[in-house]
Amino acid sequence: MGNLLVLGDSEIHNIITNLSKAEIYTFRDVLARCLRDYSVGAEREYQPAPGVINRPEGQRCLFRPFTSSEGIGTKIIVQPPPTSKAGTALRGMVAMCDSDGVPSGILNAEEITTYRTSLIALIPYLWRRHTAKIVVFGAGKQALWHLRLALALRGDEIESIVVINRTASRAEELVVKLRGENDAKWKSAATMQHIDPSRPDFQEYLKSHLSAADAVFCTVASREPLFPASYIITEGRERQPYISAIGSWQPDMIELDPELLHQTVKRISPGSKAGSLLVDDRKYVLEHSGEAAQSKIGAEYLVEIGEMEKLEHDEGDNGPLHDWMKDGLLIYKSVGVGMTDLAASNAILDIARERGPSKASPIIGTSPEDNRPPTPPSYLTTPNDVLGRPDSLIVVWSRLKDENDNHFMKHSLRSEISGAHRNLAMSPVSKSDPIIIVGAGAFGLSTALHLAQAGYHDITVFDKGAGVPSDFSAANDVNKILRVEYDDDFYTNLSVEALKAWKTPLFAPHYHQTGFLHCTSGEAPKKAIDTLNSFRASAERHPDVRKCVVPLDNRDDIVRAAWQFQDGPLPGWKGYFNRYDGYAHSTNALKAVNEVCVASGVRFYLGDAGNVVEILYQASTKQSDAQSRKATGVKTRRNTTHNAALIIVAAGAAASSILPSLGTQVVAKSWSVAHIQLTDSEASALRGLPVTYARDLGFLFEPEHGTNLLKLCPMGGGFINTDPKTGVSHPPDTLGESQFMPAGDERRLRKLLAHTLPSLADRPFINKALCWFADTADSDYIVDYVPDTSNSVVLLSGDSGHGFKMFPIVGSWVKALLEAEDGEQEISRWRWKDPKMSRAGNWGEAVSWRVGSSEEFRDIRPAQSKAKL
Ligand SMILES: Cc1cc2nc3c(=O)[nH]c(=O)nc-3n(C[C@H](O)[C@H](O)[C@H](O)COP(=O)(O)OP(=O)(O)OC[C@H]3O[C@@H](n4cnc5c(N)ncnc54)[C@H](O)[C@@H]3O)c2cc1C
Repeated sequence: MGNLLVLGDSEIHNIITNLSKAEIYTFRDVLARCLRDYSVGAEREYQPAPGVINRPEGQRCLFRPFTSSEGIGTKIIVQPPPTSKAGTALRGMVAMCDSDGVPSGILNAEEITTYRTSLIALIPYLWRRHTAKIVVFGAGKQALWHLRLALALRGDEIESIVVINRTASRAEELVVKLRGENDAKWKSAATMQHIDPSRPDFQEYLKSHLSAADAVFCTVASREPLFPASYIITEGRERQPYISAIGSWQPDMIELDPELLHQTVKRISPGSKAGSLLVDDRKYVLEHSGEAAQSKIGAEYLVEIGEMEKLEHDEGDNGPLHDWMKDGLLIYKSVGVGMTDLAASNAILDIARERGPSKASPIIGTSPEDNRPPTPPSYLTTPNDVLGRPDSLIVVWSRLKDENDNHFMKHSLRSEISGAHRNLAMSPVSKSDPIIIVGAGAFGLSTALHLAQAGYHDITVFDKGAGVPSDFSAANDVNKILRVEYDDDFYTNLSVEALKAWKTPLFAPHYHQTGFLHCTSGEAPKKAIDTLNSFRASAERHPDVRKCVVPLDNRDDIVRAAWQFQDGPLPGWKGYFNRYDGYAHSTNALKAVNEVCVASGVRFYLGDAGNVVEILYQASTKQSDAQSRKATGVKTRRNTTHNAALIIVAAGAAASSILPSLGTQVVAKSWSVAHIQLTDSEASALRGLPVTYARDLGFLFEPEHGTNLLKLCPMGGGFINTDPKTGVSHPPDTLGESQFMPAGDERRLRKLLAHTLPSLADRPFINKALCWFADTADSDYIVDYVPDTSNSVVLLSGDSGHGFKMFPIVGSWVKALLEAEDGEQEISRWRWKDPKMSRAGNWGEAVSWRVGSSEEFRDIRPAQSKAKL
């Protein structure tokens, strides 16, 4: 077996979400064999009894040991004490050794348990003839995995999925997530919806769905039946359903109506005198399930899934038994068979080993001692290896120091072969080459999403933040304006395209089309008025946007467009209202895309493990190409190296710290933000408020749903942090240094409030911060190869403070660059450029939509924080 692998939840998640249909079937076979060995083989008698210990601190600890001819292990599940800061969800691990006692794996138990339970519940589902209509109870991980697997295995046969959950918003979230994943992966045409249990006609609705369902998956830890038997057993029902119930696992829990169980066993079904219920473990179901306790159905009516699998396996596809399995009313109750944890864990360890460290990383350690010689990974020992030069491979193996080297070698050797057939300078990567994206902000995540959707399947994203979104991301925010009008039609057209993408299932839940109220106050400078007019002109030039633009010539017009300003004096305010625009909840949008990326197999390294300190290069060996070097990977703050064929730097304001050649063409700049905490009634009075932007003062948004935070940003030239030695501006080293708002900005915001919402003008500001972005002289983005890197490094930067609206489409620009036939950025304004600034970072004058000049951070930071440093 070889090395001890340590797999965390995200690595396991990466593995199981990345399995192909054939691999899922193989996994299913492993579990089915395990159940057969348990039910009709001898394995049941070799399973030790589980133990439960309740500690005085309140923890409930379950120890579930298991053995098989292939391995021995134990699962530890802990229910934390009620006071736990980590929450009270069950957590735990599986510890494994091989049949000789050599430690083989330590795995986080959460994903494995969910996955094996769902996949076993889908074993009978795969016997079924029909699966057009699916109803799911629950909106947690089990529900998600049942549906993921159903879509992965039979997505083309499913017509509708209906999710029912006590909290309707969670069901809605599940549906949105599933739609996003389906769009990215399985492309089933199934409709997906949830039903809100609070609607008055809920029971009728439920009955109509259940009486037509082909499969019903119950995944709820419920204390009463989820639906009456009469919703299933209906007169003239055309097709009988398959019903699985895995959510309740204690005698006082129950999901299925006892009457439904009685009705089921009355029906003739093979394998017993009367009807049968399918279970995973007869004894455990009788002792631990509320269904058995309340229905008082005896052991003689229960058939184990392993017994049916044996029949299925031995007897093939014929007879009344198969008719029942395929078309009969089939109910499956599960409480879990410990041995299947062992089988699932072993299967995951095997896949992790097969895929090597890039797919199963991080492999945290290989001790305690494993006294065996290391086993070369299969890609180096397979006789028909792509190189066909096994002797040279053995030499390579003996030189490898660690798994990282090993992976690098694998990659380099593959590049060597494929390099003969393609020009690396033009198309730097194939879809199987490892790609690293530095930065999980708006640009990096969008890139991961688009590349994963296009079939690139070895993508790793690094971010120095502890989670997604990172605290360092400019997009880690409650809202961002999505406006389409620019004074430059190139960006207007792109924004229209982006807004269309905001209306697709993955992004739409985070888009709020409140409209954009764009004005200048009576004291605005001419530049601000000119910019407003050129924005309006561009909106009016666009055929789709034009219809949504309304002029606002005086206070009455403004209050008609936004009644919430009825108490605001709005002195001299004029402008226009554009219904086409709105805002996005940026944090939630980033999280949603992150989840789809993870589900699509993109790996994430976060915190210190994801903090990239350096790009590693290999000098060119060709004489003619002496200047050209090639990136081989990245080094992180933890001093670990990760190899890749292509590095995409999407590190926002911090890009120049890892790409010093950027020099001054990208300037780290910041604007300030502040918030006001509103009460529920104050927030209700501002619901639907358009994004309101006074070009000379600043802008504010509808309060955040849930927290009632009103966000405000002042208008101004921004703040830069220039290193006097290099002339390059960088964000300050720590986030704490940016937690304030300069006095001038605060004055402008108080004026904005006095003009619009005077009752809030003197309210305290909270969560004040400078937020750093990557500015360019002409406000154009940079999406290009970094010179002298043999097209092995791409820079994706220069968002210039207006990039978030492009979140759904940014990644498509990177894909286009990677797939460009001539290897060049087609859009000249997005190419690597020469610095054009007149004075470090002070580009306010060059771009029409900026008002005011930049100031140096050292001149505005509070005295106290200056003194500390
Ligand atoms: C105050 C403010 C208001 C804005 N308002 C709007 C708006 O209304 N509408 C709009 O469209 N846009 C707006 N923007 C701009 C928008 O936020 C940015 O365009 C967008 O976030 C840029 O995305 P990015 O991925 O390039 O950078 P970011 O989102 O900043 O992401 C960069 C990521 O790189 C990571 N990183 C940095 N260094 C490293 C490293 N060494 N190793 C690993 N990871 C690293 C960071 O942790 C971060 O997650 C605003 C920006 C600011 C500052």
